[in-house]
Amino acid sequence: MNRISEQELDLDTLAVRSGIERSQFNEHSEALYLTSSFVFDSAAQAAARFSGEEEGNVYARFTNPTVTAMQQRLAALEGAEACVATASGMAAIMSTVMALLSAGDHIVASRGLFGATQQLFSNILSRFGIETTFVPATDLVAYRAAVTPRTRLFFVESPSNPLTELVDIPAVAAIAHEAGVLLAVDNCFCSPALQQPLKLGADLVIHSATKYLDGQGRVLGGAVCGSKALVDEVFKFLRTAGPCISPFNAWVILKGLETLRIRMAAQSAAAHELASWLEAQPQVARVYYPGLPSHPQYELACRQQSSGGAIVSFEVHGGREEAWKVVDATRIVSITANLGDTKTTLTHPASTTHGRISPEAREASGIRESLLRLAVGLESVGDLKADLARGLALIA
Ligand SMILES: *Cc1c(COP(=O)(O)O)cnc(C)c1O
Repeated sequence: MNRISEQELDLDTLAVRSGIERSQFNEHSEALYLTSSFVFDSAAQAAARFSGEEEGNVYARFTNPTVTAMQQRLAALEGAEACVATASGMAAIMSTVMALLSAGDHIVASRGLFGATQQLFSNILSRFGIETTFVPATDLVAYRAAVTPRTRLFFVESPSNPLTELVDIPAVAAIAHEAGVLLAVDNCFCSPALQQPLKLGADLVIHSATKYLDGQGRVLGGAVCGSKALVDEVFKFLRTAGPCISPFNAWVILKGLETLRIRMAAQSAAAHELASWLEAQPQVARVYYPGLPSHPQYELACRQQSSGGAIVSFEVHGGREEAWKVVDATRIVSITANLGDTKTTLTHPASTTHGRISPEAREASGIRESLLRLAVGLESVGDLKADLARGLALIA
C-alpha cells in the first residue's frame, strides 16, 4: 500500500490491505510465487543483486515475493518495523537464538514454555554452551535475580499453556532493559489481534504461525518481528542456515491474516462464554481463563490483552479417570493437542503434552491429573456446551 501511511490505518484494514505488491498482471488477490530462483536482465544485474548493490530477489532461501508480502502484513499487525518468516514456530525461536547469542551466553525464560521450546533451551542449546535459567512466569523478583553478566535474552510466553499464567510484559521489559538484555515474547496464544508485545515494551515477537495466524490447521510456519536491526540479524542467519518458509505456506498464512481479528474475536467470545458456564458446573473444580474475574491476574489481563483469548483450562472433581470421561464422551470436539484452529480441540495435558515430566514435577507445576485444556474454535457454543455436558454428567 503506497498511497496512505500504514500508521494511519487500523488493524482491520492492515490485515486485508498491507503487504500488497501487484505484478504486471494487476491481479487483485495476492499472487503465489512458487519459484526457487529469479532471473536477471544481464550479467551486470546478477552481479549487483548478489553484491547487494541492487535490491531484488535472487533465490528463495533469501527472499520470495509471497513470503515478503506475508512478512509485511504481519509486521503491520504487530506494529513492527520488520518481520522475517520461518519454516515453523520452532524455527523462529531457534533462528532468533542462533542469530543473537553465542556460546557462553545465557537466557532467562519463564517456566511453562511450550514443550519443544523448553527442550530446545534445556537439551540442545546447552550442548552449544548457551545456558537457560527458568523462572516462575509471574515472579518479577526472580527474573531480576536470574540475570548474570552473560545474560543476553529474556524469553517469555503469555498466557502460558495450559494454566494461562500471564507475564507482566511491561514490568519484565523494564527489568530486561535495566540489565541491557533483550525481551522476546512468544505471542502465539494471543496473536496481534489481542496483544501487541512490542507496544508493551518487548524487543522481539515470536510466532508459531501454525496456530492462530493461519488459524485453520493447514500449514506450519513461524515469524520473528521487531526492529529492522534485530530482524536483519535473524534474516542473515536464516538465509545462510536455511530454515525458511515455503512460499505456499506463506501464502496460506497471508490469507489467514485477513480473518485473524474476526476469528480471534469470535473464538475468544465463545471461550469466555464456555469458561463462565464451566465455572457454574458442579463437576468442575476450577477454571483457568484470564477473561474471568476469578483469574488471579484478571486485572493484568485487562491491561495487557484486549480479551481473554480462546484457551480455557479447567479441573474436574476427581482425577485422570474423571477427566478422561469428559474427553471420551465428546462427539464434536477433536481429541488432539493442537490449538489455534477453527475446530475446537480438547487435551488432557498430564497424559499427553506434559506426559514425560515426572508426576512430582508435574504436580508442582500445577498440571494435575484432573486438568483439561480446551482450545475453542468456531463451532456453535451451544453445541460445544452439550458436547462437554455429556462427559460431565458421567462424573458423580
Ligand atoms: C506450537 C507452538 C510453538 C511451536 O510452533 P511450531 O509451528 O509447531 O514449530 C511455539 N510456541 C507456542 C506457544 C506454540 O503453541
